[in-house]
Amino acid sequence: MRPLLLVDVDEVLAMFIHGFERYLAGHGLEMRINRFAIFQNIFRPGEDAHLDLAEGRRLFNLFFEKDVEDIDPAPGAREALVELAEQASIVILTNAPPQSRGPRARWLVKNGFDYPFVINSGPKGPAVAAISALTSGKAAFVDDLLPNLDSVAQVAPAVATFQMVADARLRPLAYAAPERHPRYDEWADLAPIIAAAIR
Ligand SMILES: [Mg+2]
Repeated sequence: MRPLLLVDVDEVLAMFIHGFERYLAGHGLEMRINRFAIFQNIFRPGEDAHLDLAEGRRLFNLFFEKDVEDIDPAPGAREALVELAEQASIVILTNAPPQSRGPRARWLVKNGFDYPFVINSGPKGPAVAAISALTSGKAAFVDDLLPNLDSVAQVAPAVATFQMVADARLRPLAYAAPERHPRYDEWADLAPIIAAAIR
């Protein structure tokens, strides 16, 4: 059976925080990357207290309606998947609000990630278990978020898990457990490790 590779989008294939930051700047707001969180990092220039969380969430949802289509791809991601696709079936597994289905699909195709994609909500373990059950081949999963990786390890333990954090500013802040989920933050380093794991 052909191996399977399940890949997250934001901070794995896409520079999400960078794109959201650009969007916020258009609304007169700034991001200060102080912690591994989104809403607590949004500020009005000159203010010490972060933006009201509900207002941050509102902007986040608006961003996903349209502007999410303009974020930059992670360096080397497209090339890495082209290579891995020779060996494995690729499925994109993204946690995104339902209104982003259209923009996200267009973004994927526009940036050379023309693979089947699934929009999930909540921990990714159950979705990964369901999708990987369709094949008896080896499977791997890549995400930036430790809770998603742990969820997959718990619900689909046969799937190899890898962490990748595309934005260099988030790397020192990201929760990691490299003994459970080997971590490689550059696609050039990660791709050969995945290739070996599902060979
Ligand atoms: Mg992500």
